[in-house]
Amino acid sequence: MQSSILKEKLFINGEWIETEGTHQVFNKYTGELFSEIALADEKIVDQAINAAVTAHKEINFPVEQRYEVLMRAADLLKQNQTALAETIAIEGGKPISDANVEVTRSVSTLQVAAEEAKKLTGEIIPNYNAPGRFLYTVKKPVGVVAAITPFNFPLNLVVHKVGPALAAGNPIIIKPASDTATTTVKLCELLEEAGVPKGYVQCVVGSGRTVGEQLLNDERIVHYTFTGSPAIGKHIQQTIGLRKATLELGSNSATIVHHDTDVEKAAKKIARMANVNAGQVCISVQRVFIHDSIKEAFLDTLVREVAQLKVGDPLNKDTNVGPMISEKEARRIESWIDEAVSAGAVVLTGGKREGSVVQPAVLTNVKKGLKIVDEEAFAPIVSVSSYDTIEEAVALVNDSKYGLQAGIYTSDLKLSYQIPYLLEVGGVIVNDTSSFRADQMPYGGVKESGNGKEGPAYAIQELVETVTVVVNLEE
Ligand code: NAP
Repeated sequence: MQSSILKEKLFINGEWIETEGTHQVFNKYTGELFSEIALADEKIVDQAINAAVTAHKEINFPVEQRYEVLMRAADLLKQNQTALAETIAIEGGKPISDANVEVTRSVSTLQVAAEEAKKLTGEIIPNYNAPGRFLYTVKKPVGVVAAITPFNFPLNLVVHKVGPALAAGNPIIIKPASDTATTTVKLCELLEEAGVPKGYVQCVVGSGRTVGEQLLNDERIVHYTFTGSPAIGKHIQQTIGLRKATLELGSNSATIVHHDTDVEKAAKKIARMANVNAGQVCISVQRVFIHDSIKEAFLDTLVREVAQLKVGDPLNKDTNVGPMISEKEARRIESWIDEAVSAGAVVLTGGKREGSVVQPAVLTNVKKGLKIVDEEAFAPIVSVSSYDTIEEAVALVNDSKYGLQAGIYTSDLKLSYQIPYLLEVGGVIVNDTSSFRADQMPYGGVKESGNGKEGPAYAIQELVETVTVVVNLEE
C-alpha cells in the first residue's frame, strides 16, 4: 500500500519547520517504518509557546472567523477521509472500518465546536443587594492552552481539544502521542488550509518525558487539556500547581446485564464493544456483571461471537480486531491473563498472543485482586461475573478506583431511572454498553477517571474566563 516513507515537518507559528532530530513512526501491524517527523527539542517547544503567546496578545481571532475556520476544517477532513483513515489504521493499528468512523466523528466534533463559538455569551446578574449597579459577565479566552493526547483516537481526541480551544479563541499547542503523531501533523495541514490564524495552532512532536515535561513546567501555558493514563494525569495535576487542567483518564468500565433483557442481543453487542480498537478504548467493556439466571445463555453467545471476530491486518476492510499498539503492551496483557489463570480464572476463548496481536479473550471465575479486574486492561479482553440482586451488581460496578461510564441492559423502567444515582460514574448508558459516546454529549469521569467534561459545549466552558463587570449607574 505505502510506496515511500512519509517525511513530515512541524507546524509552528504558521510555518512548517524542519528540526535537527527525527521521530520515527511505525506501521503497527507490519512493523515497517511509516513516517519520519521533525522532532521538537527544547528550543522548538519554546518557539511554539512564544508564538502562541504572541498570537494571544496580538492577533485578533473574532468569533465569525473561528466559526468559519472550524467549519472549513470539518469540510476538509471530510474531503480527506480516506487518507486520514488509512493513516490512523497504519500508525494506530485500528481497523480501517473503525478508523473511518473516527474521521466521521471528528468532522462532527469540529462542526459542534464551530457552533459553540457562536453561543459564547455572558449573563446579566440580578442587582439584588446592589442598588444602582448593573452587573453582568463577559467570557474571554483563557490564553495559551496545551493539549497532550493519547494514541488510541489520534484524530478525534485531538479535535476534541483543538475545536473547543479555537472556538473559545485560544491558541493551542498540541503534543500528540508519539506512536500516532502523523495523524496530528495531517490535521494541522488541514487546519492551516482552513485558515487558522498564525500562531493559533502549533504541533510539537516528541516524548512525554521531554516535550510533555517542558510544556507542563512553562508558566505561560494557562490550561492543560489531557487525555491519557491516570498515572500521567496525576503527574500533570501535581506539576502544574494552581494552573488548570481537564483530565480525561482511564477506566475498567463495567456493563450490567439484568435478567429482564434480550440476552442474545446484549451478548452480541458486548462481544463487539469489548474489542473495538483491540480493547484500547477508555470506555471499552472490561467487566460484565450478569444476572445468575441468564449467565449460561449469555456466555454461550458471547464466546461464540467473540471467537468469530476477524483478527488481523487493520487495512483489510473485514478486520474487526487489529494489533495492540505495541508488543510490549500485548505482552503485558498476556502476563495479566497468566496471573488470572494461576488464581483460578478460566479462559473461555482467545488470550493467545502473536507479536502485538492478541486473540480477543473472554474470562470467567475472576475476582478482586487480579489486575484484569482492578486495573485498566486496555486490551481485547472481557471478564464475566454473576450477581443475584441488583444491589450486588451496583456494588460490583462501584468497587473500582475508576468511574468513567457504565452500561446496563434492563427493561425495568424504574431501575433505569434509579441507576444513574447509584453508579459512581460520569455517564450511564441504558440498554447499551459502557462504550457508547456521542461527541456532543458531556463526557468525563469521576474518581481516578479524571475531572472536567469534554464534548465541545462543556469543554469550551473550561477554556473561557468569566469576567464579572459591575457598572455603578449612580455616578
Ligand atoms: P499515556 O501513556 O498516559 O500518554 C498520553 C500522552 O501523555 C502522550 O502524548 C504521552 O506522550 C504523554 N506523556 C507521557 N508522559 C508524560 C509526561 N511525563 N508529561 C507530559 N506528558 C506525558 O496514555 P496512552 O497510552 O497514550 O493512552 C491510553 C490511556 O488514555 C488509557 O489510560 C486510556 O483510558 C486513556 N484514555 C482516556 C480517554 C478519556 O476520554 N477518558 C480517552 C482515550 C484514552 P508519549 O506517549 O509521546 O511519550
